[in-house]
Amino acid sequence: MTIDESTCAARDAADPLRSLRDNFVLNPDEVYLDGNSLGVLPRATAARMQDVIAQEWGDGLIRSWNTAGWIDLPQRVGNKIARLVGAADGELIVADSTSVNLYKALSAACALAKQAGRGGKRIVSERSNFPTDLYIAESLAREQGFTLDLIEPDDILGTLDDSVAVLLLTHVNYRTGRMHDMAGITAAAHRAGALTIWDLAHSAGAVPVDLNGADADFAIGCGYKYLNGGPGAPAFVWVHRRHAEAATQPLSGWMGHAAPFAFTTGYAPAPGINRFLCGTPPLLSLSALECGVDSVLAAEPLGGMPALREKSLALTQLFIELVESRCAGHNLELASPREGDQRGSQVCFSLPDGAYAIVQALIARGVIGDFRAPDILRFGFTPLYTSYVDVWRAVEQLRQVLEGGEWREARFAQRAAVT
Ligand SMILES: *Cc1c(COP(=O)(O)O)cnc(C)c1O
Repeated sequence: MTIDESTCAARDAADPLRSLRDNFVLNPDEVYLDGNSLGVLPRATAARMQDVIAQEWGDGLIRSWNTAGWIDLPQRVGNKIARLVGAADGELIVADSTSVNLYKALSAACALAKQAGRGGKRIVSERSNFPTDLYIAESLAREQGFTLDLIEPDDILGTLDDSVAVLLLTHVNYRTGRMHDMAGITAAAHRAGALTIWDLAHSAGAVPVDLNGADADFAIGCGYKYLNGGPGAPAFVWVHRRHAEAATQPLSGWMGHAAPFAFTTGYAPAPGINRFLCGTPPLLSLSALECGVDSVLAAEPLGGMPALREKSLALTQLFIELVESRCAGHNLELASPREGDQRGSQVCFSLPDGAYAIVQALIARGVIGDFRAPDILRFGFTPLYTSYVDVWRAVEQLRQVLEGGEWREARFAQRAAVT
């Protein structure tokens, strides 16, 4: 059966998750396929922020740390995110940025590896990992006397031996959308005596994750992508409970102290995950993040992450099929896995010439994806608010841009600071 806009509209009408779209502020003239970079604003966020600012801050002032529950917000929002990633209450906390949380988790993992006395001094990661992860690992390896070895994804299992202290992987690759088998790789790492750190930046709220089921050691993740927490939203960190009392992290700020308001001179880490806090939590951002996480949890009565995953796969599959059939002959090459079980919630195509300008021309037509150097057109699909008609419209605009050649205009070649 050939697919057209009306068959896509019929799929939207039959979509059990269709009501969730109303929870977001969307421009009806645009198709937003960049929720993997900055999630859409939930409708609830502005009113909640207004309340936090006017009532809790404006009226409540300092009292709100107790009366409005500010002091517990990193744990409260952490427990909500835990439900999305297979963690238990009290195991996951919201703090800092993903980069800073990686620094803390990787330091803790290196210290545990040293304590275990196994002698392995290699931190292994993927060459194609998100650069901030590699930059943090590079300086930390130097500081701790470890080496950082970067390998290709297909070489991960083969490289695991007793020289590896920590395996640091991003579950869903930011450029290709390729997803790792978390349980299988974690088990192989453990057989080799290595600890695992999983970066869930492109997984939390996008694909089902089961940290405890996979027996992972550490995880970190991002609040402003699929969790819809807003620009620069705080990030999260999780530690398996078998490590929670042994793991120490170097940013020993007062909020991670066992008794911050005792104001004692010496540092004593708080029990469990709370020691991964450092300074005072950013309350305004945390409040917005809570609305974002709630916008994902709103899917729970409709089937939760498995239902979101099912729709995500249907959207990405449809996008691949439509691009390959309707935009054939323009040298677009699928850069994401064709097999659904290896694909996150995004689809990328590579194009040797013009990828950046084509993305700009699409944005000018109201189809918002992004470009990742050197040659990737990247499109993220958020089943909470992306519709099948959105997919149709995006491919139709892409087809017109490619056929009309408008992307060759000089204005689309100008590089902005953020791509
Ligand atoms: C988006 C992303 C980050 C972002 O890190 P910040 O510290 O929040 O800027 C880190 N790692 C990966 C894999 C990402 O995709």
